[in-house]
Amino acid sequence: MVSFVNLILVLSLTSSAVFCLPSGERNSTSGEDDENEIDSYEEETEATQGATEYIEAANAGLARLRSGPRITHGDIAQTTGLTSTRNASPCTAKGCTWPKSSRGYVYVPIQISRRYSSEERTVLIQSLVEFHSVSCIRFVWRRRHRDYLSIYPSSGCWSYIGRQRGLQVISLQQRGCVSRGTVQHEILHALGFHHEQSRSDRDKHVRIQANNVLPGKLSNFNKVNTNNLGTPYDYSSIMHYSRFAFSKQRGVLPTIVPIPDSKAVIGQSTKMSGNDIKRLNKLYKCRGY
Ligand SMILES: [Zn+2]
Repeated sequence: MVSFVNLILVLSLTSSAVFCLPSGERNSTSGEDDENEIDSYEEETEATQGATEYIEAANAGLARLRSGPRITHGDIAQTTGLTSTRNASPCTAKGCTWPKSSRGYVYVPIQISRRYSSEERTVLIQSLVEFHSVSCIRFVWRRRHRDYLSIYPSSGCWSYIGRQRGLQVISLQQRGCVSRGTVQHEILHALGFHHEQSRSDRDKHVRIQANNVLPGKLSNFNKVNTNNLGTPYDYSSIMHYSRFAFSKQRGVLPTIVPIPDSKAVIGQSTKMSGNDIKRLNKLYKCRGY
């Protein structure tokens, strides 16, 4: 059987291939060998911060950019016109999820810019293929598909929420955005998810310290009428920002304080949490995951 990593490398070099894994290889991702491969990947990247901290750092200068979409909540691109008020719940209720095939898979066409190096491309593909092993999401190379994701190294890390129409950019700039956690964070936005600290029930779990937030950044903490899909609030979600997100003084003045345990670790994840995976499978009604 073709090994998991070799398969990924082959696919990364053949852009016309569909990188939906054949069932044999897909099943092998739960095998012991593949778990070892994922461990070695983690050692290589050796993240020292949570993914959302990398995103915030990469996006620090975005507000000054004159081109590109308007960004809210730190990294969420806004569409213009009628859909500009989209957020997780109303959006996913009105058809911004990706369609499901009769085979039970959600095929998401994707293209990856040729501006990425082969190493970056491998990280991107590994991060995407991980969705295949934990859900019914299947990324496929875009050919003639009308609606598709385009991963492109624009300025910053950002994504739209849910399926838009036509070409839908996910920006992952090369410095600071190409790692497992940041890729999965932005992909989860495109699949329909908002930030964890924006959840409708967040006030039971965190307190936003408005006085500590940088001027002009308080709207990043706006609550959203999310559909939480019966999953618990999760400090370890890849969609949760860190304790010092948009702080006037990082490391000193917290902006998100967990309650009741103010010392709880929040926003330090470098990969999807169990709850992230659970709600992904609930939203898309995946069977058998
Ligand atoms: Zn985000």
